[in-house]
Amino acid sequence: MRHFVIVGSGPAGFYTAEALEKAYGDQARVDILDRYPVPYGLIRFGVAPDHQSLKAVSKRYDKVAESPGVDFIGNVSVGRDISVAELLDLYDAVILATGAPHDRKLGIPGEDLPGVVGSAEFVGWYNGHPEFADLDPFLNGTHAAVVGNGNVALDCARILAKTRHEFEGSDIVGHALDALDHSAIRTITILGRRGPHQIAMTPKELGELGHLEAAVPVVEPADFPPVEADEPLEPGLRKSVALLRGFADLSQDKPKHMVFDFFAKPLRVEGDGKVERIIVERTELDEKGSARGTGETYEVPASLVITAIGYSTSPIPDVPFEGGKFVNESGRIADRLYAVGWARRGPSGTIGTNRPDGYEVAEQIAAAVPAEGSGDREGASGLKRLLESCGVMPTDYDDWRKIEQTEVSRARPGSPREKFVRHKDWLQVLGR
Ligand code: NAP
Repeated sequence: MRHFVIVGSGPAGFYTAEALEKAYGDQARVDILDRYPVPYGLIRFGVAPDHQSLKAVSKRYDKVAESPGVDFIGNVSVGRDISVAELLDLYDAVILATGAPHDRKLGIPGEDLPGVVGSAEFVGWYNGHPEFADLDPFLNGTHAAVVGNGNVALDCARILAKTRHEFEGSDIVGHALDALDHSAIRTITILGRRGPHQIAMTPKELGELGHLEAAVPVVEPADFPPVEADEPLEPGLRKSVALLRGFADLSQDKPKHMVFDFFAKPLRVEGDGKVERIIVERTELDEKGSARGTGETYEVPASLVITAIGYSTSPIPDVPFEGGKFVNESGRIADRLYAVGWARRGPSGTIGTNRPDGYEVAEQIAAAVPAEGSGDREGASGLKRLLESCGVMPTDYDDWRKIEQTEVSRARPGSPREKFVRHKDWLQVLGR
């Protein structure tokens, strides 16, 4: 019997578990670890609460978790409770699927002023991530700015713009829903350091902005190249740019405005003890398509600034790490040690991108660790003994179902669940 352990229970972890199960059948056991007693990582804590259809993929992960060869082991933090070296002793291969939970920094003066938050923090706040439950983003001013032109920037802007009514059917946590309901924010400036042809926003997500109840997107037609220039764009991007162009025709007669400010590179954040404005430099594209400052600067008022400029993975002691992810070659970090998903390739692609990624790494493992072989590693029994010896009490999949049932039973009308947002509350449900 082979024993594999996957560290991280988000999409990359579950697709890899699924692939390993298919490759080895009943000749292997796969343990999926998570530092929390609740699985699914990005699906629970990252995907926007008003995008329930995307979250439905967790049903597929449920099936994997329920299959006889796979176990979910929660409440275990690798690097703190147990080391990678210890896991390598216990398992035939260790696969790091820890995602990319940290915000990249802008690296500009004033970035640490109160009122500047990273998208991981803001998204974590409205999605019930225990580390960010107390974020309390400043929503009492009229102006906010979101830095970045990717889908996460869109998520943040849309969540700030929606009415309470528009969150019906979502699983946004109660504390965020109430705070957003009382928000004074009326103008959300979305800052892109390059232009409309360089956005990283996908059509479905962008299109939503044109249909909000109380908010309207605003674009400046002069920011766009002539329409013929859209022709050579890749079809998805062309569609996004067409949607953006169409925003110019929308009536501005709604109380909230989401203003696309292109060719605007943040230079510094200013304010007296808290953010009041962000100073940006007008840019143009250089020969390589990068943003080049023109020297013209101006200020964008904002009492809340959300940076949505990409994420990085958490380093783990003794695992080579560079550029925000684990150093790896096609997923292989070292002998019997692998990375998948954002921990492998950085924060790009959709949830589905993690499927081929996980399958590819599983194939490599199957080639390197044949099913028939020595098989003298202990796997889960050794892990549990080791955890017990240092006072860590892991949770299992049944514990998660107990938490889930309680969350569903607490849901407000029309919402699929009301998430617990604190580690201690999860453990309390389990009688710990
Ligand atoms: P992203 O797509 O890489 O976008 C990052 C944005 O930040 C880019 O517009 C980038 O501009 C900008 N940026 C980077 N450094 C900057 C700086 N120093 N100053 C100003 N702007 C800067 O990342 P993301 O939005 O975090 O999304 C991560 C992944 O998750 C993406 O693959 C995304 O599609 C996916 N996602 C999907 C969905 C969905 O499908 N609904 C929702 C959320 C996220 P440049 O291009 O100029 O570098």
